Amino acid sequence: MKYELPKLPYDVIALEPVISARTIEFHHGKHHQAYVTNLNNLIPGTQFETMSLEEIVRKSDGGIFNNAAQIWNHTFYFNSFKPHGGGIPAGKLLKAIDNTWGSFDLFKKEFNNAATTLFGSGWAWLVKNEKGELSIIKESNAGNPLTKGLVPILTFDVWEHAYYIDYQNRRADYLVALWDIIDWDTVSARF
Ligand code: MN
Repeated sequence: MKYELPKLPYDVIALEPVISARTIEFHHGKHHQAYVTNLNNLIPGTQFETMSLEEIVRKSDGGIFNNAAQIWNHTFYFNSFKPHGGGIPAGKLLKAIDNTWGSFDLFKKEFNNAATTLFGSGWAWLVKNEKGELSIIKESNAGNPLTKGLVPILTFDVWEHAYYIDYQNRRADYLVALWDIIDWDTVSARF
């Protein structure tokens, strides 16, 4: 199966000033695209050729895993945003967050802390387990919670390519700004 770069659900300039058009052009148009191109070059003739992307993420390792998981992670990340987003999650997710962290603000603080302190490249994730319990996890490089049987709800990309054009080394500023573009309707529906 040949993979294609998923289209963004908004225009490249739509998330400014939080994420600039130039960052989107590189992050989606170059980085996300490169993972798609790489996977398409890696899977012909392997057992992964006929699998869905999610199945490849769950079953592969090495270069195939890295590229497949990065496609999945970026699609999930880009689909979590919308222009003039922000605010708070829908009722059921908000209640679960309140029960787990005490308040939405405390959850945000904890999530930002995880994303800020993640060493090197990777992803901060809000996930739920099979009991529906929420937690925040950090994954290095292409790490994806599906491989641990967890359901991803929200992720922040903390690879430098996600923020360096707009924020240079100020990862914490990028993380604070991201909350203003979250599409909580989409994200809450994942819970
Ligand atoms: Mn990225």
